Amino acid sequence: LFAADCQFFFGSQTIDQLPPAERPEIAFAGRSNVGKSSLINALTGRNRLARASSEPGRTKQLNFFDLGERVTLVDMPGYGFAKAAKAVKEDWQNTMFAYLRGRTTLSRVLLLFDARIELKKSDRDVMDLLDRAAVLFQIVLTKCDSLKPGKLESKRREVAAEIGKHAAAYPHIVLTSSETGMGIDLLRAEIARLAEK
Ligand code: GDP
Repeated sequence: LFAADCQFFFGSQTIDQLPPAERPEIAFAGRSNVGKSSLINALTGRNRLARASSEPGRTKQLNFFDLGERVTLVDMPGYGFAKAAKAVKEDWQNTMFAYLRGRTTLSRVLLLFDARIELKKSDRDVMDLLDRAAVLFQIVLTKCDSLKPGKLESKRREVAAEIGKHAAAYPHIVLTSSETGMGIDLLRAEIARLAEK
């Protein structure tokens, strides 16, 4: 599957203009700067497919990528800018909720957490949102190269305990690094498996 071309084909700024729901969809979410663009680029083996770093203030949109005409990868706008106005945050939540709730082809959300950073309120809010939307989500820890194995394992356990509270959380946590390639094949295999369904 990942040998195939991955192509950007649609950007949605509002929930009223989404591409047709034709293929299984996997969405990537996470705080801004979590390493989402780097991960999508590492997975698809292409540089700058997902534009690196979505800065605050930049137009937020849902970006849709076609992978081998079998599965759609969706890059969700990063959340959690400390400086964003409350109205902007609420707007983000409403749009995301509408998408998550209404998208019949959405098979899973990959929710990215930076292995080096404590979970924030915004991360917990998003997990609550996913529970409410009843969308199965899986945690992907990013930047795992920056922790020693012992620290990484305690981080994994800490996150596992946290997601135990969430009905929609898939229990297996994927440890990744876009720098070293750790976990990338595993994540590709999971995505390929979801594409079969
Ligand atoms: P995004 O805003 O979530 O799309 O994040 P980016 O992919 O732009 O990455 C944010 C920052 O984290 C950049 O400075 C990257 O170089 C860094 N980064 C991303 N992935 C990794 C990783 O696997 N390991 C390390 N050490 N740094 C990473």
